[in-house]
Amino acid sequence: MSSSVENVVIIGTGCAGLTAAVYTARANLAPLLLEGTMPGGQLTTTSDVENFPGFPEGIDGFQLMDNLRKQATRFGARFEHARVESVDFSAQPLRIRAGEREILTRTAIIATGASPRLMGVPGEKEFFGGKGVTTCATCDGAFFRDMDVVVVGGGDSACEEALFLTRFASKVTLIHRRDALRASKIMAERALAHPKITPAWDSVLTEVQGTPEGGVSGVKVKNARTGAESVIPCKGVFMAIGHVPNTQPFANAVDVDETGYFRPVTGSQVKTRVPGVYVAGDCADHVYRQAITAAGMGCQAAIEAERWLAEHGA
Ligand code: NAP
Repeated sequence: MSSSVENVVIIGTGCAGLTAAVYTARANLAPLLLEGTMPGGQLTTTSDVENFPGFPEGIDGFQLMDNLRKQATRFGARFEHARVESVDFSAQPLRIRAGEREILTRTAIIATGASPRLMGVPGEKEFFGGKGVTTCATCDGAFFRDMDVVVVGGGDSACEEALFLTRFASKVTLIHRRDALRASKIMAERALAHPKITPAWDSVLTEVQGTPEGGVSGVKVKNARTGAESVIPCKGVFMAIGHVPNTQPFANAVDVDETGYFRPVTGSQVKTRVPGVYVAGDCADHVYRQAITAAGMGCQAAIEAERWLAEHGA
Protein backbone atom coordinates (compact mmCIF):
# COMPACT_ATOMS: atom_id res chain seq x y z
CA MET A 1 0.00 0.00 0.00
CA SER A 2 1.23 3.46 -0.91
CA SER A 3 1.26 5.89 2.02
CA SER A 4 1.27 9.06 -0.10
CA VAL A 5 -2.07 10.74 -0.73
CA GLU A 6 -2.88 12.07 -4.21
CA ASN A 7 -4.68 15.36 -4.73
CA VAL A 8 -6.79 14.12 -7.63
CA VAL A 9 -7.23 10.66 -9.10
CA ILE A 10 -9.10 10.54 -12.40
CA ILE A 11 -10.50 7.18 -13.35
CA GLY A 12 -10.94 6.88 -17.10
CA THR A 13 -9.14 8.49 -20.01
CA GLY A 14 -11.90 9.29 -22.47
CA CYS A 15 -12.94 12.84 -23.33
CA ALA A 16 -14.26 13.55 -19.81
CA GLY A 17 -11.26 12.16 -17.94
CA LEU A 18 -8.66 13.80 -20.17
CA THR A 19 -10.38 17.18 -20.03
CA ALA A 20 -10.49 16.92 -16.23
CA ALA A 21 -6.78 16.11 -16.42
CA VAL A 22 -5.97 19.20 -18.48
CA TYR A 23 -7.78 21.44 -15.99
CA THR A 24 -6.46 19.88 -12.80
CA ALA A 25 -2.92 19.59 -14.20
CA ARG A 26 -2.98 23.25 -15.20
CA ALA A 27 -4.03 24.02 -11.64
CA ASN A 28 -0.77 22.35 -10.49
CA LEU A 29 -2.57 19.43 -8.86
CA ALA A 30 -0.51 16.75 -10.68
CA PRO A 31 -3.53 14.46 -11.29
CA LEU A 32 -3.03 10.73 -11.50
CA LEU A 33 -5.05 9.13 -14.31
CA LEU A 34 -5.97 5.47 -14.16
CA GLU A 35 -6.59 4.01 -17.59
CA GLY A 36 -8.58 0.85 -17.86
CA THR A 37 -8.92 -1.52 -20.75
CA MET A 38 -9.76 1.14 -23.34
CA PRO A 39 -7.31 4.07 -23.11
CA GLY A 40 -8.79 7.07 -24.92
CA GLY A 41 -12.34 5.76 -24.58
CA GLN A 42 -15.08 5.35 -27.17
CA LEU A 43 -13.73 8.00 -29.55
CA THR A 44 -10.72 5.86 -30.34
CA THR A 45 -13.09 3.51 -32.17
CA THR A 46 -14.42 6.26 -34.45
CA SER A 47 -12.64 7.38 -37.59
CA ASP A 48 -13.49 11.01 -38.40
CA VAL A 49 -14.95 13.23 -35.70
CA GLU A 50 -16.63 16.06 -37.58
CA ASN A 51 -18.64 17.70 -34.79
CA PHE A 52 -16.01 18.48 -32.16
CA PRO A 53 -15.77 22.29 -32.12
CA GLY A 54 -12.53 23.74 -33.43
CA PHE A 55 -11.72 21.28 -36.21
CA PRO A 56 -13.25 22.60 -39.45
CA GLU A 57 -11.90 19.65 -41.44
CA GLY A 58 -12.81 17.11 -38.74
CA ILE A 59 -10.26 15.10 -36.80
CA ASP A 60 -9.50 11.42 -36.41
CA GLY A 61 -10.95 10.19 -33.09
CA PHE A 62 -7.73 8.55 -32.02
CA GLN A 63 -5.78 11.69 -32.89
CA LEU A 64 -8.14 13.88 -30.87
CA MET A 65 -7.65 11.74 -27.80
CA ASP A 66 -3.90 11.60 -28.33
CA ASN A 67 -3.83 15.40 -28.54
CA LEU A 68 -5.79 15.69 -25.31
CA ARG A 69 -3.46 13.27 -23.61
CA LYS A 70 -0.39 15.23 -24.72
CA GLN A 71 -2.03 18.46 -23.56
CA ALA A 72 -2.64 16.97 -20.09
CA THR A 73 0.87 15.50 -19.92
CA ARG A 74 2.38 18.87 -20.79
CA PHE A 75 0.99 20.31 -17.56
CA GLY A 76 2.05 17.40 -15.37
CA ALA A 77 -0.71 14.77 -15.54
CA ARG A 78 0.51 11.23 -14.79
CA PHE A 79 -0.90 8.05 -16.32
CA GLU A 80 -1.01 4.50 -15.01
CA HIS A 81 -2.65 1.35 -16.31
CA ALA A 82 -4.96 0.12 -13.61
CA ARG A 83 -8.31 -1.57 -13.58
CA VAL A 84 -10.25 -0.32 -10.58
CA GLU A 85 -11.96 -3.19 -8.78
CA SER A 86 -13.47 -1.50 -5.76
CA VAL A 87 -13.41 1.71 -3.76
CA ASP A 88 -13.89 2.77 -0.17
CA PHE A 89 -15.20 6.34 -0.09
CA SER A 90 -16.52 6.15 3.48
CA ALA A 91 -13.83 8.47 4.86
CA GLN A 92 -10.92 10.68 3.84
CA PRO A 93 -8.56 9.86 2.28
CA LEU A 94 -10.58 8.07 -0.38
CA ARG A 95 -9.35 4.56 -1.17
CA ILE A 96 -9.21 3.02 -4.62
CA ARG A 97 -8.33 -0.63 -5.02
CA ALA A 98 -6.74 -1.70 -8.32
CA GLY A 99 -5.21 -5.17 -8.37
CA GLU A 100 -2.66 -5.38 -5.57
CA ARG A 101 -2.54 -1.61 -5.17
CA GLU A 102 -4.47 0.68 -2.93
CA ILE A 103 -4.38 4.32 -4.05
CA LEU A 104 -5.19 7.05 -1.55
CA THR A 105 -6.54 10.38 -2.71
CA ARG A 106 -8.30 13.49 -1.47
CA THR A 107 -10.55 13.81 -4.52
CA ALA A 108 -11.65 11.42 -7.25
CA ILE A 109 -13.19 12.09 -10.65
CA ILE A 110 -14.93 9.04 -12.07
CA ALA A 111 -15.09 9.23 -15.87
CA THR A 112 -15.39 5.59 -16.81
CA GLY A 113 -17.81 6.04 -19.73
CA ALA A 114 -20.44 3.68 -21.02
CA SER A 115 -20.05 0.86 -23.44
CA PRO A 116 -22.54 0.52 -26.28
CA ARG A 117 -24.28 -2.80 -26.03
CA LEU A 118 -23.50 -5.07 -28.96
CA MET A 119 -25.34 -8.16 -30.15
CA GLY A 120 -22.46 -10.58 -30.60
CA VAL A 121 -23.68 -11.81 -34.00
CA PRO A 122 -21.33 -12.97 -36.78
CA GLY A 123 -19.90 -10.09 -38.82
CA GLU A 124 -20.62 -7.43 -36.20
CA LYS A 125 -17.06 -7.23 -34.87
CA GLU A 126 -15.50 -7.77 -38.30
CA PHE A 127 -17.27 -4.74 -39.83
CA PHE A 128 -17.20 -2.52 -36.75
CA GLY A 129 -15.61 0.95 -36.97
CA GLY A 130 -15.25 2.31 -40.49
CA LYS A 131 -16.52 -0.77 -42.34
CA GLY A 132 -20.24 -0.26 -41.85
CA VAL A 133 -21.16 -1.27 -38.32
CA THR A 134 -21.32 1.54 -35.81
CA THR A 135 -23.06 2.61 -32.62
CA CYS A 136 -23.26 6.36 -33.24
CA ALA A 137 -25.36 8.04 -35.93
CA THR A 138 -24.24 11.51 -34.86
CA CYS A 139 -20.62 10.46 -35.41
CA ASP A 140 -20.94 8.36 -38.55
CA GLY A 141 -24.28 9.14 -40.20
CA ALA A 142 -22.79 11.55 -42.74
CA PHE A 143 -20.71 8.73 -44.25
CA PHE A 144 -23.91 7.06 -45.49
CA ARG A 145 -25.24 9.76 -47.80
CA ASP A 146 -27.74 8.32 -50.32
CA MET A 147 -27.21 4.78 -49.03
CA ASP A 148 -29.58 2.30 -47.38
CA VAL A 149 -28.93 1.72 -43.69
CA VAL A 150 -30.50 -0.23 -40.84
CA VAL A 151 -30.90 0.71 -37.18
CA VAL A 152 -31.27 -2.08 -34.64
CA GLY A 153 -33.33 -1.47 -31.49
CA GLY A 154 -36.72 -0.20 -30.39
CA GLY A 155 -35.93 2.41 -27.75
CA ASP A 156 -35.52 6.18 -27.80
CA SER A 157 -31.93 5.83 -28.99
CA ALA A 158 -32.96 3.72 -31.98
CA CYS A 159 -35.68 6.21 -32.94
CA GLU A 160 -33.35 9.15 -32.47
CA GLU A 161 -30.62 7.48 -34.53
CA ALA A 162 -33.09 6.53 -37.25
CA LEU A 163 -34.49 10.06 -37.44
CA PHE A 164 -31.01 11.58 -37.55
CA LEU A 165 -30.01 9.20 -40.34
CA THR A 166 -32.91 10.32 -42.53
CA ARG A 167 -30.86 13.47 -43.22
CA PHE A 168 -28.34 11.41 -45.15
CA ALA A 169 -29.51 7.91 -45.95
CA SER A 170 -31.88 7.07 -48.79
CA LYS A 171 -33.72 4.52 -46.65
CA VAL A 172 -33.61 3.59 -42.97
CA THR A 173 -34.94 0.21 -41.86
CA LEU A 174 -35.64 0.03 -38.14
CA ILE A 175 -35.10 -3.56 -37.07
CA HIS A 176 -36.84 -4.42 -33.82
CA ARG A 177 -37.22 -7.81 -32.18
CA ARG A 178 -40.82 -7.15 -31.12
CA ASP A 179 -43.89 -5.62 -32.78
CA ALA A 180 -43.99 -2.45 -30.68
CA LEU A 181 -41.39 0.15 -29.89
CA ARG A 182 -40.19 0.70 -26.35
CA ALA A 183 -39.46 4.35 -27.16
CA SER A 184 -41.48 7.23 -25.75
CA LYS A 185 -44.73 7.84 -27.63
CA ILE A 186 -43.57 11.06 -29.22
CA MET A 187 -40.29 9.57 -30.50
CA ALA A 188 -41.99 6.41 -31.73
CA GLU A 189 -44.67 8.35 -33.58
CA ARG A 190 -42.12 10.67 -35.12
CA ALA A 191 -39.97 7.79 -36.32
CA LEU A 192 -42.81 5.71 -37.69
CA ALA A 193 -44.34 8.68 -39.49
CA HIS A 194 -41.14 9.51 -41.34
CA PRO A 195 -41.34 8.53 -45.02
CA LYS A 196 -37.73 7.34 -45.11
CA ILE A 197 -38.11 4.99 -42.10
CA THR A 198 -39.54 1.50 -42.54
CA PRO A 199 -39.92 -0.78 -39.52
CA ALA A 200 -39.00 -4.45 -39.67
CA TRP A 201 -41.09 -5.87 -36.82
CA ASP A 202 -40.44 -9.11 -34.96
CA SER A 203 -37.06 -9.22 -36.60
CA VAL A 204 -33.93 -10.47 -34.94
CA LEU A 205 -30.61 -9.59 -36.54
CA THR A 206 -28.61 -12.78 -36.89
CA GLU A 207 -25.66 -11.81 -39.11
CA VAL A 208 -23.93 -8.83 -40.71
CA GLN A 209 -22.86 -9.68 -44.24
CA GLY A 210 -20.25 -8.13 -46.51
CA THR A 211 -16.69 -8.38 -47.76
CA PRO A 212 -13.38 -7.08 -46.35
CA GLU A 213 -12.95 -4.86 -49.44
CA GLY A 214 -16.48 -3.55 -49.85
CA GLY A 215 -17.61 -3.43 -46.22
CA VAL A 216 -21.18 -4.25 -45.24
CA SER A 217 -23.60 -5.36 -47.96
CA GLY A 218 -26.59 -6.42 -45.88
CA VAL A 219 -27.95 -8.00 -42.73
CA LYS A 220 -29.62 -11.33 -42.20
CA VAL A 221 -32.73 -11.26 -40.02
CA LYS A 222 -34.94 -13.96 -38.62
CA ASN A 223 -38.64 -13.44 -38.01
CA ALA A 224 -39.23 -14.08 -34.31
CA ARG A 225 -42.75 -15.46 -34.97
CA THR A 226 -42.36 -17.52 -38.13
CA GLY A 227 -38.63 -18.31 -38.05
CA ALA A 228 -38.35 -17.19 -41.70
CA GLU A 229 -34.98 -15.73 -42.66
CA SER A 230 -34.36 -12.86 -45.05
CA VAL A 231 -31.61 -10.45 -46.03
CA ILE A 232 -31.99 -6.66 -45.90
CA PRO A 233 -29.44 -5.03 -48.24
CA CYS A 234 -27.67 -2.04 -46.62
CA LYS A 235 -24.31 -0.30 -46.34
CA GLY A 236 -24.60 0.82 -42.72
CA VAL A 237 -25.69 -0.97 -39.54
CA PHE A 238 -26.39 1.23 -36.52
CA MET A 239 -26.62 -0.69 -33.26
CA ALA A 240 -28.88 1.15 -30.81
CA ILE A 241 -29.73 -1.52 -28.28
CA GLY A 242 -28.70 0.49 -25.24
CA HIS A 243 -25.55 1.32 -23.35
CA VAL A 244 -23.99 -0.21 -20.31
CA PRO A 245 -22.53 2.44 -17.98
CA ASN A 246 -19.21 1.43 -16.50
CA THR A 247 -20.16 2.14 -12.91
CA GLN A 248 -20.12 -1.30 -11.34
CA PRO A 249 -16.97 -0.98 -9.16
CA PHE A 250 -18.36 2.23 -7.61
CA ALA A 251 -22.02 1.33 -7.24
CA ASN A 252 -21.69 0.66 -3.50
CA ALA A 253 -20.11 4.06 -2.86
CA VAL A 254 -21.80 6.49 -5.28
CA ASP A 255 -25.53 6.73 -6.04
CA VAL A 256 -26.63 5.15 -9.32
CA ASP A 257 -30.07 5.22 -10.93
CA GLU A 258 -32.18 2.19 -11.83
CA THR A 259 -30.29 1.78 -15.13
CA GLY A 260 -26.88 1.90 -13.49
CA TYR A 261 -25.88 5.47 -14.44
CA PHE A 262 -24.36 7.67 -11.74
CA ARG A 263 -26.90 9.97 -10.17
CA PRO A 264 -25.33 13.33 -9.27
CA VAL A 265 -26.91 15.47 -6.55
CA THR A 266 -29.76 17.78 -7.58
CA GLY A 267 -28.53 20.98 -9.16
CA SER A 268 -25.21 19.60 -10.38
CA GLN A 269 -24.16 17.39 -13.27
CA VAL A 270 -20.98 16.21 -11.57
CA LYS A 271 -21.19 16.43 -7.76
CA THR A 272 -22.00 13.28 -5.84
CA ARG A 273 -23.16 12.92 -2.27
CA VAL A 274 -19.63 11.88 -1.29
CA PRO A 275 -17.42 14.88 -0.46
CA GLY A 276 -14.56 15.12 -2.94
CA VAL A 277 -16.02 12.59 -5.40
CA TYR A 278 -17.21 13.76 -8.83
CA VAL A 279 -18.55 12.02 -11.93
CA ALA A 280 -18.19 13.09 -15.55
CA GLY A 281 -19.06 11.93 -19.04
CA ASP A 282 -21.14 9.05 -20.31
CA CYS A 283 -21.11 7.13 -17.01
CA ALA A 284 -23.32 9.92 -15.66
CA ASP A 285 -25.14 10.96 -18.84
CA HIS A 286 -27.57 8.80 -20.79
CA VAL A 287 -29.10 11.75 -22.60
CA TYR A 288 -26.47 13.63 -24.60
CA ARG A 289 -23.50 11.20 -24.76
CA GLN A 290 -21.37 13.44 -26.98
CA ALA A 291 -17.61 13.97 -26.84
CA ILE A 292 -18.08 17.68 -26.25
CA THR A 293 -20.63 17.22 -23.46
CA ALA A 294 -18.32 14.69 -21.79
CA ALA A 295 -15.46 17.19 -22.07
CA GLY A 296 -17.70 19.86 -20.53
CA MET A 297 -18.52 17.61 -17.59
CA GLY A 298 -14.82 16.80 -17.17
CA CYS A 299 -14.14 20.52 -16.92
CA GLN A 300 -16.89 21.00 -14.33
CA ALA A 301 -15.65 18.07 -12.25
CA ALA A 302 -12.08 19.42 -12.34
CA ILE A 303 -13.17 22.85 -11.15
CA GLU A 304 -15.24 21.30 -8.36
CA ALA A 305 -12.29 19.15 -7.26
CA GLU A 306 -9.98 22.18 -7.31
CA ARG A 307 -12.44 24.15 -5.16
CA TRP A 308 -12.90 21.29 -2.72
CA LEU A 309 -9.14 20.98 -2.28
CA ALA A 310 -8.78 24.73 -1.77
CA GLU A 311 -11.57 24.73 0.81
CA HIS A 312 -9.97 21.83 2.65
CA GLY A 313 -6.52 23.34 2.76
CA ALA A 314 -4.80 21.07 0.25
P1 NAP B 1 -33.40 1.15 -24.12
O1 NAP B 1 -34.54 2.04 -23.82
O2 NAP B 1 -32.93 0.20 -23.10
O3 NAP B 1 -33.80 0.37 -25.45
C1 NAP B 1 -32.98 -0.62 -25.96
C2 NAP B 1 -33.71 -1.27 -27.13
O4 NAP B 1 -32.84 -2.24 -27.67
C3 NAP B 1 -35.00 -1.96 -26.72
O5 NAP B 1 -35.98 -1.74 -27.69
C4 NAP B 1 -34.61 -3.43 -26.67
O6 NAP B 1 -35.62 -4.30 -27.08
C5 NAP B 1 -33.51 -3.50 -27.70
N1 NAP B 1 -32.54 -4.52 -27.36
C6 NAP B 1 -31.82 -4.66 -26.22
N2 NAP B 1 -31.01 -5.71 -26.30
C7 NAP B 1 -31.24 -6.26 -27.51
C8 NAP B 1 -30.72 -7.38 -28.19
N3 NAP B 1 -29.79 -8.16 -27.64
N4 NAP B 1 -31.18 -7.66 -29.42
C9 NAP B 1 -32.12 -6.87 -30.01
N5 NAP B 1 -32.65 -5.80 -29.43
C10 NAP B 1 -32.21 -5.50 -28.19
O7 NAP B 1 -32.07 1.98 -24.54
P2 NAP B 1 -31.94 3.41 -25.22
O8 NAP B 1 -32.87 3.53 -26.36
O9 NAP B 1 -30.49 3.60 -25.45
O10 NAP B 1 -32.42 4.41 -24.08
C11 NAP B 1 -31.77 4.41 -22.81
C12 NAP B 1 -32.35 5.52 -21.95
O11 NAP B 1 -31.98 6.79 -22.50
C13 NAP B 1 -33.87 5.49 -21.92
O12 NAP B 1 -34.29 5.90 -20.65
C14 NAP B 1 -34.27 6.50 -22.96
O13 NAP B 1 -35.54 7.07 -22.73
C15 NAP B 1 -33.15 7.53 -22.80
N6 NAP B 1 -32.96 8.24 -24.06
C16 NAP B 1 -33.68 9.39 -24.24
C17 NAP B 1 -33.58 10.07 -25.42
C18 NAP B 1 -34.37 11.32 -25.57
O14 NAP B 1 -35.17 11.62 -24.72
N7 NAP B 1 -34.20 12.05 -26.65
C19 NAP B 1 -32.75 9.62 -26.43
C20 NAP B 1 -32.04 8.46 -26.24
C21 NAP B 1 -32.17 7.77 -25.04
P3 NAP B 1 -36.95 -4.53 -26.17
O15 NAP B 1 -37.79 -3.31 -26.37
O16 NAP B 1 -37.56 -5.75 -26.77
O17 NAP B 1 -36.48 -4.72 -24.78
